[in-house]
Amino acid sequence: MYSVDTRLERIKALVVDDDDVDRERLVRLLKRCRKDIEIAEVPTKRMALEELRKEQSAFSFIFLDFKLGDGDGRELLPEIWTSMGADCLVVAVTGYGSEHEAADAVRLGIHGYMSKGDLSADHVASAVEDGIRRIEINRHVRLTEADLRHRSTHDALTDLPNRHVFFDRLEQRCALYRREAAPFAVMMIDLDKFKQVNDELGHAVGDRLLIEAASRFKSVVRETDTVARLGGDEFAVILSNINAPDAAQAAHAVATQLVVELRRTFSVDEVAVTVGASVGVALCPQHGNIPETLLRRADDAMYRGKRSLDKVHLYSDLEPKSTSFLDRMVLLGEVEQALGRGDIQWYWQPKVNLQTRKVDGFEALARWSHRVHGMVPTDVFIEAIEASPLILQFALATVDDVIRQIGALGPALDGIRVAFNVSARVLEHATFVDELIERLDRSCIDPRRIVLELTETALIGSPAKAKRVIDRLAMHGLSLSIDDFGAGFTSFGYLRDFHVSEIKIDKSYILTLTENQFDRSLVSCLAVFCDSQGISLVAEGVETAQCWQMLVELGCRHGQGYGIGRPMPVQDVAGWLTAWNAAAEG
Ligand code: C2E
Ligand code: CA
Ligand code: CA
Repeated sequence: MYSVDTRLERIKALVVDDDDVDRERLVRLLKRCRKDIEIAEVPTKRMALEELRKEQSAFSFIFLDFKLGDGDGRELLPEIWTSMGADCLVVAVTGYGSEHEAADAVRLGIHGYMSKGDLSADHVASAVEDGIRRIEINRHVRLTEADLRHRSTHDALTDLPNRHVFFDRLEQRCALYRREAAPFAVMMIDLDKFKQVNDELGHAVGDRLLIEAASRFKSVVRETDTVARLGGDEFAVILSNINAPDAAQAAHAVATQLVVELRRTFSVDEVAVTVGASVGVALCPQHGNIPETLLRRADDAMYRGKRSLDKVHLYSDLEPKSTSFLDRMVLLGEVEQALGRGDIQWYWQPKVNLQTRKVDGFEALARWSHRVHGMVPTDVFIEAIEASPLILQFALATVDDVIRQIGALGPALDGIRVAFNVSARVLEHATFVDELIERLDRSCIDPRRIVLELTETALIGSPAKAKRVIDRLAMHGLSLSIDDFGAGFTSFGYLRDFHVSEIKIDKSYILTLTENQFDRSLVSCLAVFCDSQGISLVAEGVETAQCWQMLVELGCRHGQGYGIGRPMPVQDVAGWLTAWNAAAEG
């Protein structure tokens, strides 16, 4: 922490004057008013520059004659500001001074002005005293500011970065990942039995233990990593620069070391205390690349760790998120039943042209209203399905339902395209494409009205296989949309190789578009790329009018999001379209 000591312990001055008599006089006067002053004197601009650039020269004062033999003294100012910084005062000392020149000097950032004509001991003394006060005040303000900043960003007990800073750094890490694909790990640490320590030994002991735990955690990680206290006995770590192939192993090793360090007995006020910790680890990009997801997953993993003997737990995306009411098998059994009963339905969310407000199409999104538990979060059951043999059955149920809905809507939907989501793994089922095409044929729906939304991972994971499937789909007139663009392993290269007709920028970029310069440059860069390739660019997650406006300015022509329309039951689609078109025309 900071202690605010702003006294100037050493005063150094530089006198720049080409007139030997004037220069020596000023040096004498300076020495007379401050015995402790150290003075360097130079007669030329060139020598002044050399003096300023010396590493050890830290001048508090520079007395500057404007008119030097080898140029105008004022030309030294930029070098003075860069080499000396804000704590250096410049006093102009000129022999032909005028009011006009004094004002000019102030404009240039010069602090004082002395005319050689009335250079007296008093004058010099008061210039120096004023200057010192000024420097000290400046320092004080700066240190207080820094102190305040430190306090608002650090935990008062352990002096670790606080929750606020942790989120900020995590966000920066995620942005860095998007830019440079630098992988990292997030860890959540929870002390075991800490409450017991607090209750039985008192808060003072509890506090000492937290302080000691913080320093042990810090000793395990590198300077470039972040250890933060999120509150109570909860700590979190960002581990940067872990190498991708061994990322899981590397992160696991560090987490284990954290646990081992903590288990060493603490001696607090002659009391020996032993506590343990559970650590949950999530990796970027394997387990997500946005702060919320990574934290949630590290937290999930930590709770699993708490319940098991193994105190370090790595998030595994193959295990579906633990829901309080169902474990995986039960969940899947219920999904199967729900499909049969029609409890899973597809809601429609519009995609519109952001410039003309014309509706381009809709995306069908699964919604499961559980008979007992109500709405089940979509990504929870989708994730479970994707890791199970139900995947094909579910995909075909989606196709059937969407086809039925298009039929039911009839002419209300003329000229409008409908998209549905396909899991990457569905494409591994050889029969899927045949079944899809056969169903479309039977229903007499023009395949050109159908869009398949696929995430990038599907294409990058096994590009050759994906290409065969996609070429077949394209041959039959179906369109392909790349979903969640930017959320996974992004690469532009493959976009040219596949028949891609649409790219959807992941909503994590769009939700922060108005605050984040990187997001904006990504959008405008994609817009140019898509225009050149004849691909339509859709922003998902358009929630506000401000975001909408900015997208138009950046050249992104299509959008989808709560600010346009939420996913709605198919019965509402015709009414929504009528109202939307009326408003768009009116
Ligand atoms: P997705 O394909 O990226 O779908 C967009 C998700 O963002 C949807 O969540 C949608 O409700 C939500 N969303 C739309 N507009 C906004 C907005 O303005 N702000 C925010 N914050 N969110 C918005 P949902 O419906 O929960 O679906 C989650 C994911 O589940 C989908 O992401 C998709 O990957 C998957 N999914 C949904 N339905 C199906 C399906 O029928 N089959 C398959 N395989 N996956 C599906
Ligand atoms: Ca989608
Ligand atoms: Ca998406």
